[in-house]
Amino acid sequence: MRAMVLRKPGALLRFETLADPEPGPGEIRVRVSACGVCRTDLHLCDGELPDIPYPIIPGHEIVGYVDQIGSAVTTHRLGERVGIPWLGHTCGHCAFCNRGTENLCDEPAFTGYTRNGGYATYAIANERFAFPLEGLEDDVAVAPLLCAGLIGWRSLVMAGQAEQLGIYGFGAAGHITAQVARWQGRRIYAFTRENDRAAQDLAYQFGATWAGGSEQRPDVALDAAIIYAPAGELVPAALRSVRKGGRVVCAGIHMSAIPSFPYSLLWGERHLMSVANLTRQDGLDFLQVAQQAQIRTHATSYPLSEANDVLARLKQGDVLGAAVLVPGL
Ligand SMILES: [Zn+2]
Ligand SMILES: [Zn+2]
Repeated sequence: MRAMVLRKPGALLRFETLADPEPGPGEIRVRVSACGVCRTDLHLCDGELPDIPYPIIPGHEIVGYVDQIGSAVTTHRLGERVGIPWLGHTCGHCAFCNRGTENLCDEPAFTGYTRNGGYATYAIANERFAFPLEGLEDDVAVAPLLCAGLIGWRSLVMAGQAEQLGIYGFGAAGHITAQVARWQGRRIYAFTRENDRAAQDLAYQFGATWAGGSEQRPDVALDAAIIYAPAGELVPAALRSVRKGGRVVCAGIHMSAIPSFPYSLLWGERHLMSVANLTRQDGLDFLQVAQQAQIRTHATSYPLSEANDVLARLKQGDVLGAAVLVPGL
């Protein structure tokens, strides 16, 4: 197979030819048709995540077709179209798994981080951690749903019954979450980098009531804010924008240091929380919502071999909506 491989921290991905992977017991192999590029891939390549097992193939928004089945596989069949998300495996017996919070599992595996991902022509998944994708069209448009959409969904649930919802960072996750939130009848306030007119226009296009720079403040106090951008200084900015009792949800896996801020920003029973990973139930719930709400993604496709360029553009804030790698291009 062909794959983009990360061999050491901070290195560029190398386009390599490797032996085709074989599915083990309980595993499926998929021929990858599209794989979304997530900000987490950037943190991985920059060595900002702990304990990366090099060499590793990034990519955890995989859409593909099952083309080989390992022994004892019962839930998938050859030719089936599936989505493979970030959560690649959980232990099933730790305190967190037992509590229904497998997203916090003590011994997890993550696709494209601790097991090989979808920046490749083939990928292997545990059959229990692959979603059927019936009813959702277009592989490229669906790929960003598998992390940006899923994490967006989990963070939206964590934001609670917020009517006036702030979204900091209007990229892949932001533009999907905004659509779901609009469909639920909420009002969206989109915060982007200073003067990022393209992202602000995208926000209005997807139904935002207000869009502006992250240091600006709309006229209303927000009920909750979700932070998708990995910038710690957004935490006090978001706390400043929410009303008493409001919530600020940090939805990224990595964030720069949060600057100190006066206690008065948290006072008044404001809640500050993070969202980590996903549960399989989140995936099933969200994929259903995505159909009901008729989510459209603003996705641009690129050949697999251009992954380094795409990651560089993502770092510079130069990707509008979501970027998707397509091995067949
Ligand atoms: Zn992701
Ligand atoms: Zn566990």
